[in-house]
Amino acid sequence: MKKNLAQTLENNKIFKLVLGLGNQNFDEIESLVTVYAIAGADMFDINPSKEAVEAVLRGVKKSGKHPEDFYYTISTGLAGDTHVQKCKINEKKCKKCGNCVKLCPQNAIVFDKEYPEVITEKCIGCKKCDICKAVSFRDLQYNAEKIVKLAKKYKLDCIELHLSSKKIPDEEIKFILKNFKGLLSLCLDRKYYSNEKVKKLINKVTKWKGDTKFIVQADGVPMSGGDNTYNSTLQAAAMAHLVQPYGTYIFMSGGTNEKTAELAKMCSLRYNGIGIGSYARKIVKDKNIDEAVLEAKKLINACKHD
Ligand code: SF4
Ligand code: SF4
Repeated sequence: MKKNLAQTLENNKIFKLVLGLGNQNFDEIESLVTVYAIAGADMFDINPSKEAVEAVLRGVKKSGKHPEDFYYTISTGLAGDTHVQKCKINEKKCKKCGNCVKLCPQNAIVFDKEYPEVITEKCIGCKKCDICKAVSFRDLQYNAEKIVKLAKKYKLDCIELHLSSKKIPDEEIKFILKNFKGLLSLCLDRKYYSNEKVKKLINKVTKWKGDTKFIVQADGVPMSGGDNTYNSTLQAAAMAHLVQPYGTYIFMSGGTNEKTAELAKMCSLRYNGIGIGSYARKIVKDKNIDEAVLEAKKLINACKHD
């Protein structure tokens, strides 16, 4: 039987593959999980739907490994969070220039009829297409109760809440702490979470929970797009630096890449894991399975080196 996640984080640094909070392309999720499970990932970060969880479990099965070999977190934002938004296009305002199609990193906008159309399942809400009046966004509706139910049903290890609004969602956090025995992870959008507010949040949650056994990480806002540069991963390092005196678990995430562990070492940062989404997905895109596994292994090794 696997150790619980908190025990593992006490003594190990883990690699988490972030599958994309708004990603409803379940075939892609399954393939990514197969590749990263073979390559040695420790944890999968899944969007809050039964279909996504089942796609992850299929991917693990295809890898030849056992579901117990991995940790799972379900990740959600609350209404208003960019990560739970989907693009829509108003044909009446569209000038048919096609620029949004070129800008979309997910190939989620197709333009083979009179007007461009959004393939909702592929849209991750990154807003790179938000360049004209025809484009707007709608929220996917999630609430803490629904998430806890899903996490319990599949015996997941962690619930990650993306905090991306002015007000700290006290009631939702308290609900998760009260009703879910796994770990809580707080993923903070720095647009809304100043240094002072991060400290206030950590102090509040520590008081409600009675200890600091929860994860804090930075959110990728704006979503990174997957560059492999020190610059791209600075935000993750800054968050780790800010949070480390408080004793919570720290995941480096948001613009993370092959340079993240190296940067953390240069800055003597304490952290418990690295979560990578855009960059991890980008390096295996359009590769056959053997090539993809090699790329994924290289990334995981770079993340786990000390
Ligand atoms: S939605 Fe905007 S960017 Fe896209 S084709 Fe129409 S006018 Fe151009
Ligand atoms: S650019 Fe981003 S928000 Fe726009 S359709 Fe593509 S994935 Fe969705």
